[in-house]
Amino acid sequence: MNRIIQIVNAIEGYDPDALHVEKARAAIRACLIPVTATERLPVREALGRVLAEDIVPAIDVPGHDNTAMDGYAVRFADLGSGDTVLEEIGAALAGKAFGGRLGPGQCVRVTTGAVMPAGADTVVVQEVAKAYGGKVTIPPGQKPKQHVRYAGEDLKRGVPVLTPGQALHPAELGLIASLGIGLVAVRRRLRVAFFSTGDELVSIGNTLKEGEVYDSNRYTLHGMLQRLGVEIQDLGVVRDDPALLEAAFRKAANADAIITTGGVSVGEADFVKPMMAKLGEALFWRIAMRPGRPMAFGRIGNSFLFGLPGNPVAVMVTFYQFVREALLHMSGRSGDCAPPMLKVPAAMPLRKVPGRTEYQRGVLFRDGGEWKVKTTGQQGSGVLRSMSEANCFIVLEHERGKVAAGEPVQVQLFEGLA
Ligand code: AMP
Ligand code: MG
Repeated sequence: MNRIIQIVNAIEGYDPDALHVEKARAAIRACLIPVTATERLPVREALGRVLAEDIVPAIDVPGHDNTAMDGYAVRFADLGSGDTVLEEIGAALAGKAFGGRLGPGQCVRVTTGAVMPAGADTVVVQEVAKAYGGKVTIPPGQKPKQHVRYAGEDLKRGVPVLTPGQALHPAELGLIASLGIGLVAVRRRLRVAFFSTGDELVSIGNTLKEGEVYDSNRYTLHGMLQRLGVEIQDLGVVRDDPALLEAAFRKAANADAIITTGGVSVGEADFVKPMMAKLGEALFWRIAMRPGRPMAFGRIGNSFLFGLPGNPVAVMVTFYQFVREALLHMSGRSGDCAPPMLKVPAAMPLRKVPGRTEYQRGVLFRDGGEWKVKTTGQQGSGVLRSMSEANCFIVLEHERGKVAAGEPVQVQLFEGLA
């Protein structure tokens, strides 16, 4: 197995003391190893999981040519340049085919989804047709083959529709079900262990003494990990004591990934960093970003280690910018898992210095007809309220300086549909 340091040293522009966010992403990506084990699950339980097989339709969907509207199935060749009167010879309903065949001058009443009667090639919507006493009058202006859905137009027999590495969203569950498939092969769930470090931290249920704070990082981490659909192991608050830290790391190393918070700052005089280095391989980075400058990345046994900073906002930013994608990749997802970036005008001037990527907490809002973004105000990395008030990150690029009101900026939304 290659040592992580060898892999990252091969990355051009790798500088652990002033690491560009893109280089940090590339370094992490180059080292990760996805899980390979799979399991078969009922379709509904596969929501959010990563597909581990090709889905190849054994049937066409839809299985027959059928009608897309309520109205009348006709032969286009019968229709003239004026009104055409046709003889209504029966009906085809969704789930109940007509059975017979249309001859010249005939039509069949149809509802949406009915199998297209033999002989018919066009559907005329009921709103324009006039039916009276077994006769139906069709006005001119119909188009050949209108309002017909063809067999296999959604999914074609033998043509793969989903491939390994794809995430199963609600649409994919429905798609698989539309093929009559009940069980689906997915990668096993990723196991992620995490704990907080810091002598000032207290768990809920205890009273605070002077200088102590409640541990909030394990709660934000729990939420972010739960949404990713990974298996979670919360190892609590670990005191800054070598024996306790060693025990926690050894326990966590059974997981696929370990996330810690706190204790990785430059010059931090504690046992977290030495313990990471002792038990495995750890790189200590100063990333050119704000918030979230210090971060450790490494490996303990077969488990990848993400040593996040302690500040509550920095935890969320580094998680969303590095750990989320890393975990998705480890889960077996193929392709680019980065959240989309949108460009919108800044509603106000923004402070920024070139030489680091900033993730300001933003509020995307509608100003008349146009979407704009403003900051939540106070941007300190300890102000967790800024994450709660925000609905997006304003991502200000590495090279960029201050932003004037009205200039376009990139935003990353916190909420997505799928
Ligand atoms: P550190 O990265 O350990 O230097 O911590 C930076 C700041 O984040 C300090 O003010 C810590 O008290 C705070 N902090 C660290 N861990 C947590 C936590 N789990 N919950 C809340 N605040 C924390
Ligand atoms: Mg600390």
